[in-house]
Amino acid sequence: MASRLLKFFKIAHEPPHVRDAGERICDFDEISDEFIREKAAEQASRCSQCGIPFCQSHCPLGNHIPDWLQLAAEGRVREAYEVSAATNPMPEVCGRVCPQDRLCEGNCVVEKAGFGTVTIGAVERWLTDTAVKEGWIAPIAPEIERGESVAIVGAGPAGMAAAERLRRAGFQVTVLDRYDRAGGLMIYGIPNFKLDKSIPARRHEALREGGVRFALGWELGRDGTIADLRRSHDAVILAFGAYAARRLDLPGEAGMEPVAALDFLTASNRKGLGDAVPGFEAGELNAHAKKVVVVGGGDTAMDCVRTAVRQGAASVTCLYRRGRDTMPGSAREVKHAEAEGVTFQWLSAPARIGEGHIEVQPMKLDMSAGGRGTVLPDEGPVWRLEADMVIEALGFSPEDAAAMAGGARIELTRRGTVKADPKTFETGEPGVYAAGDLVRGPSLVVWALKDAITVSDAIVRRFANAREPA
Ligand SMILES: Cc1cc2nc3c(=O)[nH]c(=O)nc-3n(C[C@H](O)[C@H](O)[C@H](O)COP(=O)(O)OP(=O)(O)OC[C@H]3O[C@@H](n4cnc5c(N)ncnc54)[C@H](O)[C@@H]3O)c2cc1C
Ligand code: SF4
Repeated sequence: MASRLLKFFKIAHEPPHVRDAGERICDFDEISDEFIREKAAEQASRCSQCGIPFCQSHCPLGNHIPDWLQLAAEGRVREAYEVSAATNPMPEVCGRVCPQDRLCEGNCVVEKAGFGTVTIGAVERWLTDTAVKEGWIAPIAPEIERGESVAIVGAGPAGMAAAERLRRAGFQVTVLDRYDRAGGLMIYGIPNFKLDKSIPARRHEALREGGVRFALGWELGRDGTIADLRRSHDAVILAFGAYAARRLDLPGEAGMEPVAALDFLTASNRKGLGDAVPGFEAGELNAHAKKVVVVGGGDTAMDCVRTAVRQGAASVTCLYRRGRDTMPGSAREVKHAEAEGVTFQWLSAPARIGEGHIEVQPMKLDMSAGGRGTVLPDEGPVWRLEADMVIEALGFSPEDAAAMAGGARIELTRRGTVKADPKTFETGEPGVYAAGDLVRGPSLVVWALKDAITVSDAIVRRFANAREPA
């Protein structure tokens, strides 16, 4: 079988075709095409089957990447899918949105040797998309029904993946979420051009068909407390993310109020889903024909600049106080944004908002203390950048979970995240667990999935010998 692998020196790195920037900015469709079967097998055959696979150790889920690449290269696509789905609750999502350049692909030995990475994410995505088309995905049908019930607050990737795992184990699962749709940031944060909305919607449907109950429009803190849920369920999982946006509070003239990144992205995603969005219709959340300035250098900022371009902004500039090499966002996203016409002003921070402009303070990096360096104002003069829409994408922290406890023992870290046992993610309140961004702070889908596995396995263990199943 080795003849089907190690082809990296003969076959060039070739990811699926990415639509030209000029074409893709005219819609919100995903930017890259699907692999065809032959190409997926060919690209998988570039894997060098390392003895110690660094791709696998840099995947938060520890996916058995060389195994499913080998099966894909041999044309054993269904088995490849099954191996990939055994460790990843949402491979089709991770294949699309993981920053592979910082995780699996960035640590691929073939990449390090200068041949261009094996296209791990694209093969992973293709395997599950193929499994959906071929009807290989096993419905959620527990072999036994258990009597215990679990309430999960938050229908993002952490909540949905935990719901699936626990329901497959026979638990009675209810997912509660304040939004009207399940999916969390996969629905209302990440734009459609990175993750088509039909993908989380399909996961939601499969959960419903498998017997998971959803209470949408239910808000923790308003409609009940953690203690209330704990009284009526055998276990509770808190997976309600990190939604308190950091704001700049810039001095300036009244008239131009900065827009919060998630308000802007949620409005755009809702428009794409066909909802009426008054703030968008009124213009305040619509970048069309505006000179847009986005402040921030993370993936949320990249999503904002690329959304603004697609809405027909007159110009889009990203202001970031550090340099290209020290920005937290994925280098791949910056490349896409540049190709789509976004201008980057590195080492630049907003100083003041004026009528039709923003004042920009040049910055410099002091590297004497090491790490990513300390950002300091540079001597250069403050300058003016024309702007009639300013979007702040400066990160998030969790909302105050302790205020929603209702007497349950929920402790917070200094960052406002929920304190939990690192092995089980159980909080200080027995039977109440936490997962995803609520525990980690703003992170990645793949880490939310990893937490969902940890938490649901801890709950399964807790009840395994406690009682006979109903
Ligand atoms: C704009 C943006 C782009 C991103 N892009 C990427 C990317 O490309 N790749 C990547 O890997 N990660 C990305 N992320 C990060 C990723 O989306 C998150 O790490 C992940 O969604 C966290 O999952 P979660 O389940 O913990 O929380 P969430 O997805 O945030 O889900 C939490 C759910 O809880 C609900 N909720 C909140 N408060 C309450 C309450 N009081 N009562 C009831 N329900 C509540 C919310 O409505 C939501 O549905 C991005 C994040 C943002 C903001
Ligand atoms: S889950 Fe993410 S990091 Fe892991 S193999 Fe898939 S794309 Fe790579």
